[in-house]
Amino acid sequence: MASLLIKGGRVISPADELDGEFDIFVEAGVIKEIAPGLARPADETVEALGQVVSPGLVDVHVHLREPGGEISETFETGLRAAVAGGFTSVCAMPNTQPVNDRAETTRRFIEQTQRLGLARVFPIAAVSMASQGESLTDFKALVGAGAVGFSDDGRPVKTAGLLKRAMVQARELGVPVIDHCEDLSLSVGGLINEGEVAGRLRLKGIPPCAEDVCVARDLIVAEATGAPLHVAHLSTARAVEMVRVGKRRAIRVTAEVTPHHFALTDQAVLEHGTNAKMNPPLRSQKDVEALIEGLADGTIDAIATDHAPHAPELKQKPMDQAPFGVIGLETALGLALTRLVHTDRISLAKLILLMSTNPARIINRPLGRLRVGEVADITVFDPNGEWIYRAAEGRSKSRNTPFDGWTLKGIVAVTIVGGNVVFRRT
Ligand SMILES: [Zn+2]
Ligand SMILES: [Zn+2]
Repeated sequence: MASLLIKGGRVISPADELDGEFDIFVEAGVIKEIAPGLARPADETVEALGQVVSPGLVDVHVHLREPGGEISETFETGLRAAVAGGFTSVCAMPNTQPVNDRAETTRRFIEQTQRLGLARVFPIAAVSMASQGESLTDFKALVGAGAVGFSDDGRPVKTAGLLKRAMVQARELGVPVIDHCEDLSLSVGGLINEGEVAGRLRLKGIPPCAEDVCVARDLIVAEATGAPLHVAHLSTARAVEMVRVGKRRAIRVTAEVTPHHFALTDQAVLEHGTNAKMNPPLRSQKDVEALIEGLADGTIDAIATDHAPHAPELKQKPMDQAPFGVIGLETALGLALTRLVHTDRISLAKLILLMSTNPARIINRPLGRLRVGEVADITVFDPNGEWIYRAAEGRSKSRNTPFDGWTLKGIVAVTIVGGNVVFRRT
């Protein structure tokens, strides 16, 4: 049985009320002991002095592009990017070609990605067949095959009626409906945030109310059905406020925010062009402030990347032709540490809640903690390590990011999945 000893780090696991200097002994993929000064012989040792030892990071919103989009990403490149970014688990959105709307497809995703031995993949299945917003997929069969939630991401669940039927099923199965909140009648033709920058560039804007109207609809349907709703990529101050009120009303709602939405405003479009084009779009400083406030006060449960790779030939086009989306797996932790922790907006423990413990809870998986007897998914990172992100040196097959050349404070050292070291920075 292979064994592993992680020595001398600051072990932080909010779910286990753990924060201190401990060693961790792992055997056969399971945490066997957490204690100071362990002197057990092990096959492999990770020296973690000066580093944080965290439960493995979990990203509930990733586009791996396989099958159908291998020009931009494959399971292998996407999962190499994931483990380099400290993620031990990622949830794969269903908008591939074909769409993940059948149990067979879900099963195949899991088998193919397991074989790679990198990060775990938890598929999110489509709410509707081909995500066309007409007929529901077979929720029961999809959950049986391993789907951990349902979404028509890339677009919203088309109608309130369809959402209600989806939520009734999701409630029975105990899985969330994850919505990309966008009222298409309000966003139609829009490219970037409606505002001064869009005006200056003479681009059609996507108004914040396109998101707000849909979040309001979803909260009302979630309240009516009692089903768990997870709001993807929140971007507006108003939407944060509605989620906050929803939680006060005991609606079963969780929400995520992406690093690009808390780190940038629509001003970034002026510098980065299509590499700052995503959906929902980068918003105003006031929205950024509200998102950070929401992260700090518990309104927003998770940081998720919405990693959306697009090959250069697709993305390097005029603004009105380039697809929406940016990559994010390799920069998420560094951006969160730099912009949230080192600025004293949130604590390290809170960061781990947002990037590991809470995302695991959202998908109902027994991950996101460090406890004897639990599976050893562990991320070791240097919270103070400065580095320059070079997209060209990234593991993702795509380079579409506004963060190329940024200096970040906080870097992943070692990523461990099921007791195996799957990434080690050299
Ligand atoms: Zn989306
Ligand atoms: Zn997405």
